[in-house]
Amino acid sequence: MRRANHDKVTPVQLIACSNCGEPSVPHRACPSCGHYKGRPVTKVATKNATAKKEA
Ligand SMILES: [Zn+2]
Repeated sequence: MRRANHDKVTPVQLIACSNCGEPSVPHRACPSCGHYKGRPVTKVATKNATAKKEA
């Protein structure tokens, strides 16, 4: 009895955001704070003005 092997869905791994601690997908910007690798990479509604990019 063969069974298709491509219908497995791998569960999404979640890591804790290093900035806010919310669970987020690895190698993606945090959906909560928009940070990735310690800096903001996406715009999320925050009150902070746009920070300077790495000086
Ligand atoms: Zn975060």
